[in-house]
Amino acid sequence: MTVTVQITDVSKRYGRIDAASGVSFELGQGEMVALIGHNGAGKTTLMKLMLGLIHPTHGSIRVLGEDPAAGQFSARRRLGYLPENVSFDASLTGRETQRFYARLKQEPLAKAEQLLDVVGLGAAADRRVGTYSKGMRQRLGLAQALIGRPQLLLLDEPTTGLDPELRQTFYDAIQRLAAEGTTVLLCSHVLTELEERAGRVIIMNRGVKVADGSLDELRRLARLPTKIRLKVSGLASGEVPSWLAASTPHRRLNGHIVEIDAAPEQKLDLLRRVMAAGTSVEDLDVMSPSLDELYAHFLRSAETPR
Ligand code: ATP
Repeated sequence: MTVTVQITDVSKRYGRIDAASGVSFELGQGEMVALIGHNGAGKTTLMKLMLGLIHPTHGSIRVLGEDPAAGQFSARRRLGYLPENVSFDASLTGRETQRFYARLKQEPLAKAEQLLDVVGLGAAADRRVGTYSKGMRQRLGLAQALIGRPQLLLLDEPTTGLDPELRQTFYDAIQRLAAEGTTVLLCSHVLTELEERAGRVIIMNRGVKVADGSLDELRRLARLPTKIRLKVSGLASGEVPSWLAASTPHRRLNGHIVEIDAAPEQKLDLLRRVMAAGTSVEDLDVMSPSLDELYAHFLRSAETPR
């Protein structure tokens, strides 16, 4: 894996607040990683450190092989950043805004203007930004971040203010970039939308990294039960099916539906037993622990004294 970002034992202190404490991770080329955590967990602090906007109190950071705090322009040009609260000059048009940022990044103006089409703002390119809706300003922020085909894209709450269709368009564009080799780090509180999109999730709590891995890896570590919901015909009220050990946590949701909490190692065995028993299963749903549940689990573990 070609490493784009290397964060080693990084801490950032603001007076008495530890915004980041001993954080280490690497981001590889083409990875799409979600950075999640409660308000104040240290997500924006990590992004600002990668951008070189603030300096670490301790530890080292390498972005595209350089120290961002050293302010080398060559590395900055290869970064794209969408801040949480985008703010543009209201008197400029979308097109003028793109041209302004393209000049700052020393990138071709025409290519920067074309990005307005990519984010669906082509038709509004010559309108003043002051007349844009929140979602349109957010998309202009993304168009700005994409100038110069960045090798690292840092997106802080990028889908705030976007309707479901625009969110989909937005993620399609980001996934295309990642497939072409751009590393994408994305902060969001909307975990359901990250679930099937981010290849990897980093969970922060009070400045400390508490989990890091793919959804499957986090599920293996958390060992939360999988919910298996079966619609079974011919079960008498209160009857426990023969294929279900009484010790296995389960609920009868109504006359036909049994919901079982299966431990990871029980899952396949349970399904085999159901099938072998010739039970008249009319329907089956297998619900792996969601990112919401995993997130709550890792935060709980981090807060529980050992
Ligand atoms: P959110 O989800 O609300 O955006 P976050 O995870 O991005 O939160 P940060 O903005 O990184 O959190 O803040 C981490 C901690 O550092 C918070 O306690 C915050 O109050 C503090 N902090 C951030 N910037 C400063 C600053 N310039 N001066 C003092 N404290 C700061």
